[in-house]
Amino acid sequence: ILTILKVLGDLLSVGTDRRIHYMISKGGSEALLQTLVDTARTASPDYDILLPLFRLLAKVGLRDKKFGQKALELEALDVTLILARKNLCDSQNLLHCLWALRVFASSVTTGAMLGINGAMELIFEIVTPYTRKHTRTIRVATEVLAALLKSKSNSRRAVNRGYVTSLLRLHQDWHSRDTANTYVLIRRGFLLCLKHIVTLRSGREAFLAAQGMEILFSTAQSCLDDRSMEPVISEALQILRRCYPKSPLPLVTASSAYAFPVPGSITSEPPRDLTEEDFEDDADEEVDRGSNSEDVKEEDDDLETDVDKLSSKPGLDRPEEELVQYEAMCCELSCSFEELESQFGDNVNFGEAQCTNHHIPTAATSKQHCLSKDQSSRGQEREETAQTSLLHMVKTGRSAVHLASRKRPVMNPYQNVQSNALGRDSSGNEICNTQASLKEDAGDLDAIFCSRLSAFFSNSARPRETAAVIDKLLQTHPERVPFHDPYLYTAKAGRTMSVVDFKTMAFPDLWGHCAPLSAQSMLERKRGVQRIKILEDVRRLIQPSDVINKVIFSLDEPWPLQDTASNCLRFFSQFESGNLRKAIQVREFEYDLLVNADVNSTQHQQWFYFEVSGMRAAVPYRFNIINCEKPNSQFNYGMQPTLYSVKEALLGRPTWIRTGHEICYYRNHYRQSAAATGGASGKCYYNLTFVVTFPHNEDVCYLAYHYPYTYTTHLDILEKSVNPKQVYFRQEVLCQTLGGNLCPLVTITAMPESSSTDHLEQFRHRPYQVITARVHPGESNASWVMKGALEFLVSSDPVARLLRENFIFKIIPMLNPDGVINGNHRCSLRGEDLNRQWLSPQAHLQPTIYHAKGLLYYLGSIGRSPVVFCDFHGHSQKKNVFLYGCSIKETLWQAECTVGTSTLLEDISYRTLPKILDKLAPAFTMSSCSFLVEKSRASTARVVVWREMGVSRSYTMESSYCGCNQGPYQVCEAWLLAMTKNERGSPNGTGLQFGTRELEEMGAMFCLGLLILELKSASCSHQLLTRAATLLNAEEGALDHHLQR
Ligand SMILES: [Zn+2]
Repeated sequence: ILTILKVLGDLLSVGTDRRIHYMISKGGSEALLQTLVDTARTASPDYDILLPLFRLLAKVGLRDKKFGQKALELEALDVTLILARKNLCDSQNLLHCLWALRVFASSVTTGAMLGINGAMELIFEIVTPYTRKHTRTIRVATEVLAALLKSKSNSRRAVNRGYVTSLLRLHQDWHSRDTANTYVLIRRGFLLCLKHIVTLRSGREAFLAAQGMEILFSTAQSCLDDRSMEPVISEALQILRRCYPKSPLPLVTASSAYAFPVPGSITSEPPRDLTEEDFEDDADEEVDRGSNSEDVKEEDDDLETDVDKLSSKPGLDRPEEELVQYEAMCCELSCSFEELESQFGDNVNFGEAQCTNHHIPTAATSKQHCLSKDQSSRGQEREETAQTSLLHMVKTGRSAVHLASRKRPVMNPYQNVQSNALGRDSSGNEICNTQASLKEDAGDLDAIFCSRLSAFFSNSARPRETAAVIDKLLQTHPERVPFHDPYLYTAKAGRTMSVVDFKTMAFPDLWGHCAPLSAQSMLERKRGVQRIKILEDVRRLIQPSDVINKVIFSLDEPWPLQDTASNCLRFFSQFESGNLRKAIQVREFEYDLLVNADVNSTQHQQWFYFEVSGMRAAVPYRFNIINCEKPNSQFNYGMQPTLYSVKEALLGRPTWIRTGHEICYYRNHYRQSAAATGGASGKCYYNLTFVVTFPHNEDVCYLAYHYPYTYTTHLDILEKSVNPKQVYFRQEVLCQTLGGNLCPLVTITAMPESSSTDHLEQFRHRPYQVITARVHPGESNASWVMKGALEFLVSSDPVARLLRENFIFKIIPMLNPDGVINGNHRCSLRGEDLNRQWLSPQAHLQPTIYHAKGLLYYLGSIGRSPVVFCDFHGHSQKKNVFLYGCSIKETLWQAECTVGTSTLLEDISYRTLPKILDKLAPAFTMSSCSFLVEKSRASTARVVVWREMGVSRSYTMESSYCGCNQGPYQVCEAWLLAMTKNERGSPNGTGLQFGTRELEEMGAMFCLGLLILELKSASCSHQLLTRAATLLNAEEGALDHHLQR
């Protein structure tokens, strides 16, 4: 036998696993186990045979999935246990037995059987307090025990026998005495055992009773910086997270603080019902190590594979007669322009004057001044821009060197303040000079905000005084943000209908925002930052005396008024798009924040926008938004929230910037209780935590998920800026929303050359392009892209002129105004996702969708369906900008459903526009585009417009909340070198976060893409081709290849 074992051992020790599998298939496991049983049962077992046999068993057992079962049937478990017990004093023999037990226990059933037969008691005789003897045996013993504890019955037994306390004592003993960290794996072994036990509720209770939180907290704290202790810290943190007692959110109800009586029953989708199982694999989630783990996997089983559904075109969802009403929204089709001629005929200066507002939204335009200081510089700017065009900025024409060599305008001190928190006076004279006036302004601000706060309590606002203060501020600060007018904003805001009748405007919305002069790179995530945050959270439990737990702000309940002398921050959110629901001071400089659920809903907390004041400069404040819902976030991958400082704005820098450090996003210990949801329970919440160092003392600042963009928009200003001799610009009302707001519809095209029949004919027969945005209120990035598109389309850029002369643009900038106004993240006032309502919208329930669809029906009915339909969105999980389109073939291929696809004809023109944008737009990437039709998306704009209206180029354009990790906006060496240290922040080489400038540029590039698309189409007119060729040739030939059809 010995010889056979030796030969087998030799055979299996070389070569691949194939030999082992072959042996297993030929009954090798059974033979070995039988030999073990036979040998062990002799009066004096022969260890010369047993030891090599155990080694073989351990090796083969590892590869044999049924090994445990076989061992059980052949009664090998018992003999091994008996042998182990006999050899408690013989470390070498014992070790061999443990190896076998380890493979037996890897099967849960076999493990349970071993447990019944006393395996755990045996292990506890082997594992000892700290020793330097037989440590290998002890390590394997802990591993056997951990394997045994995977069985719930063993874990239960372990709890009953008090093993939780024993394991904690052993852990503490080894932890304190193994000072050189020699036996990290043994220490980890004890924690692995505990980790399995605490998956049971009784295990967690025993762990808490045994002061487990305190013990492991101090373990983790003591070795946090020691890389060699990684395995121990990781297990300790997982146990701490799992055992942190679950609690409901500190809210009176999960329902939104705002309710609104809406027609129809509210059909808010029920929250996902989670079971205990969902919490089982609560990994450490230390995400900063995985590189691509952020990418969400598309699920193939969601694909629509029914060819009929994909290719059939359903009929109208309404009576045909109804479509007539949309004729009124397409005046361009009937207008004769006679009255227009006479109206503007002589007024040449009017048009000229308006032209000075000309503005091309491109990220690369360095000459786009924040504030136009005087008229002469404005004139100069106009001259410069007249010579250039968007074509200069296309992707192919710029490289990193190009970016670096751009003349950089005056450094933005605000950024300097942010990147070095203490250097807030380093920005030089400018601040000193304005310091005095700022003080005065601050007094005014106090007047606004204090009166506002007291008004909040007494419920009697003093709008007149506030208005006077704002007026004074505007007079003393005459600089203006382009395409923004505070007076106009104020006037419009007064007519905006919000559910709880907001009385105040947020300062940034009133004052306006200018994009910072340089984009900010993504935040480099420091190793282990999440662990530190989690341990700080655990500390609340262990040192409760440190916790203040004071409600500072709440929409649901009164809270004690803070005297202004206190160090406590003040919060506010009752303004357009604001949605902070509650703020709780946790420690001196730490606040827990809860955001409101969407109106008439119990969920969708993700977007946030609130005001904070009463801060001290240069103090790091930690904010935790504790009721986020998405399971992951770009906040884990370089994204920062945005900040707007009123004092900075008054110093001439009215700018939302990315801010915050030590940012992470992780699941916390809050769970939704069954009572709160009416049955569904166990929904978990996520923490977004970040630290902000504010630039000024006693400032009023605003923090938001992304650059806010409110309903009270800039359409009126835009309309004033256009040259009515050239641009046909009409702002109409698509419909009224449930909340009583108007949903604007904008028409942009070129005025006809004259009112001659030929020119009118050309005018009326221009093909349509339809663009919509912001159906999801939390996706403010979509609005910035839309702003860029709108401003570009009315501009004097030659490309824009060509576009106007060849198309009629129908644009709905905001499909969900109510959601935007009331601070929703996802839904309408009925608590439903409007982008899931396109299949059969109802006029009285989803008016904006109903009429947007009606307008498209109408265009189709007169044979004028749009060339392109695109709905702008924001994407929270991916980077860059990309399109989703619709393709039958690609969907069927992806689903591996190839039946009948060969006969199916499909024009692949849907791929042209994304390909063009990939070449043109710096932020755009083809690689993230997808053309699959998912069942779950059947009622989205993209799929419905494609299927029901027959628009083959029907898209959703997704812009990342975060930024770009490809193309010119990827941070590269040359670009970094060109910047001074302070400006750079903490680059990590992954890319730039989007500023509003990059988003606006994307909107303009999208429009340019539409022109190139037309040039490449077979139907493109000879005249357009010639004109475009002249234009493009004049532009360094950067776009030549686009013209090759
Ligand atoms: Zn969306």
